[in-house]
Amino acid sequence: MKKNNYTGYSLTCQICRADNLKNILNLGHQPIVQEYLRAEELHESETRYPLNLVRCSNCSLVQIDYVPEPGKVFFPDYPYRTGLTSMLIRNFLELADVLEKKYELKPKDLIVDIGSNDGTLLKGFKAKGMQVLGIEPTNAAKDANKNGITTFQTFFDKASVTKAKKKYGSARVITATNVFAHINNVPELMRNVRDLLKSDGIFVSESQYLLDIVEKKEFDTVYHEHLRFYALKPLQILFNKYDMSLIDAERISAAGGSIRVYAKKGKQPMNARVKNLIQAEEQAGLYSLEKLIAWGKEIQKVRNDLLALLLKCKKNGAHIVGIGSPARANTLLGFSHITNELLDYAVEKKGSPKIGLYTPGTHIPVIDEEELYRDQPEYALILSWHIGEELIKIMKKNGYKGKYIMPLPKPRII
Ligand SMILES: [Zn+2]
Repeated sequence: MKKNNYTGYSLTCQICRADNLKNILNLGHQPIVQEYLRAEELHESETRYPLNLVRCSNCSLVQIDYVPEPGKVFFPDYPYRTGLTSMLIRNFLELADVLEKKYELKPKDLIVDIGSNDGTLLKGFKAKGMQVLGIEPTNAAKDANKNGITTFQTFFDKASVTKAKKKYGSARVITATNVFAHINNVPELMRNVRDLLKSDGIFVSESQYLLDIVEKKEFDTVYHEHLRFYALKPLQILFNKYDMSLIDAERISAAGGSIRVYAKKGKQPMNARVKNLIQAEEQAGLYSLEKLIAWGKEIQKVRNDLLALLLKCKKNGAHIVGIGSPARANTLLGFSHITNELLDYAVEKKGSPKIGLYTPGTHIPVIDEEELYRDQPEYALILSWHIGEELIKIMKKNGYKGKYIMPLPKPRII
């Protein structure tokens, strides 16, 4: 099955290449979370891949041990659009402001966004008069170009970097939000970032943060797009390996808790914020295999409790539906065996490309949220639980009268 060092099953660390990975949590075999099915596909076979969380005993990186071919995960019809998530729009506008002030960006500076999706992040920089370029392999690139954000529809690789440099020169800023943990070939990624970045340039990544995942029991963020779950010490090792330095980091609320990391070329000191965060990581047990294994056991208990709660609700003949159908919910549903027998449907906002399709693996129909208010099912399972409070407020205002079930960090009825 193994095609090269960077896809398939591997017990080699994705950062330090040590062969010393230890198991933390097994989530079973799961389908690709964005591979929503059309009705006719429900009668076909589905491909599932192993989904196990492991930890490197050498550099402490937490990662998954099976990496599917990138084209299977980020396929052309990939349905996700950044511009549909209002929380991310706010986050990205703020990022443009922060970077402009902090690093004295000037009009005409080149800003490159890796995995730029529909160009939402770059809009903020473009509005400030900067030169922007997106690099995005899925058809989201077409939406970006339509909206005036110049985007190459391709993976971030040597060819796209060469083309970018020839056309626009080197980048003052390279951003990689929700993508830096997604690219399988780390050495090539780092070489390309270095190659494209100006000597005084800044590389900014945002990734889901292991500290949030552990603290909030967010095991649903584990799926085949997320190959690595970063803490700061392994990141520092990664940057040093490619003659770069981690200089600053901050926690942000995006995607249920993320870490924004700033890195520069050469040897540079890390600031106090990084040191404080590393201390918090140590206290939370991120560098202890025993503590992470104990966390994995807690996750199994949460899964059992959630399933028991849903079965209890269902026993009385009640209807349960899902609120939101984010990619991450498919790990929660698949691992917890919550299928279309338990949930009647899941609802998405009008305009979502998932409406009319079925969740991968669990085959729950995704429909327009308007149906929820007509149907008034007894229970609403909040699948986008990381923005759950915000959603509940909106649903109450819109007239939903049933009860709410929060799946994580502790399954409970509200
Ligand atoms: Zn390692």
